[in-house]
Order: sequence, then C-alpha cells, then structure tokens
Amino acid sequence: MEQLLNLIDGELRSAVGGTSLDVYAPATGQVYAQLPDSDDRDVHAATEAAHRAFPAWNALGREGRSAAMLRLAQLIEDDLEGFAQDESRDNGKPLALARRVDIPRAIANLRFFATAILHFPSEAHLMDDVAVNYTDRQPIGVVGCISPWNLPLYLFTWKIAPALAAGNCVVAKPSEVTPLTAFRMSRLCKAAGIPPGVLNIVHGLGPKVGAAITAHPCIPAISFTGGTRTGAEIARVAAPMFKKLSLELGGKNPVLVFADCDFEEMLDTTVRSSFTNQGQICLCGSRILVERSIHTRFRDAFVERVKALRVGDPNAAESDLGAVVSHGHMEKVLGCIELARSEGGTVLCGGERVMLDGALKDGWYIAPTVIEGLGPQCRTNQEEIFGPVVTLQPFDTEADALALANATSYGLASVVWTRDVQRTHRVARALQAGIVWVNCWMVRDLRTPFGGVKQSGVGREGGVDALRFFTEAKNVCIKL
Ligand code: NAD
Repeated sequence: MEQLLNLIDGELRSAVGGTSLDVYAPATGQVYAQLPDSDDRDVHAATEAAHRAFPAWNALGREGRSAAMLRLAQLIEDDLEGFAQDESRDNGKPLALARRVDIPRAIANLRFFATAILHFPSEAHLMDDVAVNYTDRQPIGVVGCISPWNLPLYLFTWKIAPALAAGNCVVAKPSEVTPLTAFRMSRLCKAAGIPPGVLNIVHGLGPKVGAAITAHPCIPAISFTGGTRTGAEIARVAAPMFKKLSLELGGKNPVLVFADCDFEEMLDTTVRSSFTNQGQICLCGSRILVERSIHTRFRDAFVERVKALRVGDPNAAESDLGAVVSHGHMEKVLGCIELARSEGGTVLCGGERVMLDGALKDGWYIAPTVIEGLGPQCRTNQEEIFGPVVTLQPFDTEADALALANATSYGLASVVWTRDVQRTHRVARALQAGIVWVNCWMVRDLRTPFGGVKQSGVGREGGVDALRFFTEAKNVCIKL
C-alpha cells in the first residue's frame, strides 16, 4: 500500500503524530494508499521552514523563480501519463479527462504564472510638478493555499503558481480526499530546483490542517477554494486577524437557452456543461432555463442524449462518466435526488446509483439525472448538489429568464445561448455572476478575472488579479 508523505523543508516526512488516514479509489471503493494525518505541529514546522526560505526565494528574483517553476512544469509534462493515471484513480474521473484537461491545465498554470510574473507591471502616477508616485508590489511572505477534490492538481497549481511566482513561500493543503497528484508533484520539487521550504505540502483533514493554516499567526494571507460553509468558517477565523483572503466557493449556475440559439451546438455543449467530471465542477450548469417555445424539443433531445451517456470504468475510453469522489458524496447526491422527488420533481432519466461488475462492484457511480417540474424556490433549485444532476425550468420572457437565473444566493458562472447580439449584452450585464459564457462553456483564458459574487466567493483569481492578491502594494511618493 502506497504511503504518502508531507513535503516540509524540502524533505518528505510522515506526520509528527505518526498516524495515517485511508485514501480510497472511487472506481472500486477500496483503500489503496495511506495519507499523513497531520496536525498543527506539522503546519508549524512547514510555516517555520517557509519563513526561513523566504528571503532567498524572494532575492532570487523573477527570472530565477520563473526558471524553477518552468522546470517543475516540464517535469510534470514528462510524466503526464503517470499524473493522469493517479488523478483518475484518486478522483474517479475518466482517465481521458485527466489526460486531456486536468494535467495539461496544471502544467499550463505553472507556465502561465512563471511567465506572467516577468511581465507584471507596476504603475506610476505623476502629479504635474509636485511629485511622482510609483507602486511597489512586494510579496506577502508566507501564504496558505487550501484546495478541494474536484480538480485536484488543476486547482492546487492554480493557487501555488501565482503565490510562488510573486516571491512568496507557501504552506499548502490539498484535499484529503484526493492527495495523490500533489504528493507526486512534491517528489519533483527538488529536481526542479525549488529550494527547501519554498513549497511545503501538508496533508490531512480540513478541520485539523486547514484550520491550523487559517489560524496560524505567521501566515497573513489565505487563498481557499471549496464549499461556501468552509469558506465562512475560514473567514470567521481569519477576519479578526486581518488576514488577506481569497475565497472561491460554491455555485448553482444557470444555463439560459433562448429559442434563437444554434440548437445543435447548444445541445452538445449543455450535455458537457451538465455532466463533465460527473457534474463535479464548480462551473457546471445545474439549472437549465429554456424558452418555452423550444422547451419540449429541448427536453426530448437532451434526455435522449443524456440516456446515451455511458457510466463506467474510468480507465475505459468509452466511459463518459466515471465514479463520484467518495461514498459520502454519493450518499449526499442520492439524497438530493430523493429530496427533489419529495418536493414534487419528476425524474426524466437517471435518479439512481449504477452498479457495475467485477472489481468495480463497490465503486461509487451515479446515473446522469435530469429533473423537471420544480419551482425556483425549492431546495433542489437553491442548494448546491455538485454531482451529475440538473433541473429544467421553462421561461417566457427575457425578464423571466433573468429572474430565475438570479434567484439563488450563489453567483459563480452562467451560460447564455442566443444569436441576438443586443440580448447578449443586456443579459450579460444583468446576470449576477462573476463569469458569463455566451454560446460556449469552460473556455478559459488564464488572464481573465475568475471568481464569484454573493455566496460564491470574495476576490478574483487569474492573471494580474492573482499576482495582486499575492503581493502587497506600497505607494512611494517622491517630491519633484
Ligand atoms: P470543502 O470546503 O469541504 O474542502 C475544501 C478544502 O478545505 C479541503 O482541502 C478541506 O480539507 C479544507 N477544509 C475543510 N474544513 C476546513 C476548515 N475548517 N478550515 C480550513 N480548511 C478546511 O470542499 P470540497 O468538498 O473539497 O469541494 C467541493 C466544493 O468546492 C464545492 O462547494 C464546489 O463548488 C467548490 N469549488 C469551488 C470552486 C471555485 O472556483 N469557486 C472550484 C472548485 C470547487
């Protein structure tokens, strides 16, 4: 059985407490590795190592840090297949998806921020004959990065890359549910030339390791991606310590389908935006709102396409969906489907666990599920499910569509399908969301601001927003 280790001060170590946690393969439901069950002592050691490493890492300068990060990206790319297999085994996602999306995007995150830092500008403000101001952006020092299980290495690198590029040292915690690829990466840091203590990876439970990072007095900034409830707890602890916080939280994303859209392209993409990664992407559309004049046509065509999706072995090329991430999460999603039934919803397809054979007989599979007949205020249309479940609601006018779209406490992403340019602008402006995709989904330019409004988060990641988060701006005013 594989034993995973923490990366602290450049060394791979067990947890100080000496205990371990089980790591499960969702495809089989079996334990296949052990994870350090770290606590505040491990976080403290990591934080001290990070503080010792900071002056030299910062002094290395942009080019030196960039070169080390580019080497790390290259080492991951050289081992892309190994990383993809680990990601699929750990998360249950189709291997093809990990090969095509997760690992290439993790590599792209490292390369993007390793080069973005070379072009990161500072501003100057001239006051006629009085003075000149310039903005000096300095790294914060030691920062905490806490990430979830749905896109493990993809979201882990999305945080640590801008933090490191900006000159910080990092105490990072991957999800305890999917720790494998972060561990695989930690074995490459030395060869990449990342000095000891610059990147520390502490594995373990959220309420122990994540909470210790959040509460540590020598970690003044926290970048967190995960559930809204966890984000609220982190904010509660961090706010009185005046920590800098970036919170990327849950969503309940609407897909607005107008009758004038390109129907076939919309249909293809809406199947993907509903069920990619078993619906476990914070950007998946979970409430599909369809103009009444095409509602029946859409419903029939969509349900036919969803019924044809194959749920199966993540390693098999023909599987469209693999397993959901954990037994607990499967029970939660099945409970949400039961709730939808009890609220009066009609399950048009799916709605149950899928039992596979042989080695996969204990795996955690759910059939892609489409539900209709529920109003906007019921719990099914208000609460995040984060699984392969979507609802359909018809609308009559653009105003109705917007009212439905904005009728939740979340505001992460939204998708609009229309060929009317004027409507595109009107609707995009009126949607309460940090991200609006028009006639597409998951098209990502890493320079754009990424994040949500309302209960979907605080702050923006990506491009200069991430580099600004991980630096402190100082205005220097010089009299002329
Ligand atoms: P989670 O909130 O349970 O856990 C996220 C991370 O926080 C994990 O590493 C966990 O160990 C840690 N954690 C848990 N309790 C903690 C505490 N008290 N203090 C500090 N850290 C703690 O979320 P999850 O179940 O891993 O991920 C799913 C959620 O993440 C969904 O709600 C999804 O919408 C959200 N998500 C958001 C985005 C985004 O960009 N907005 C992206 C992906 C996922």
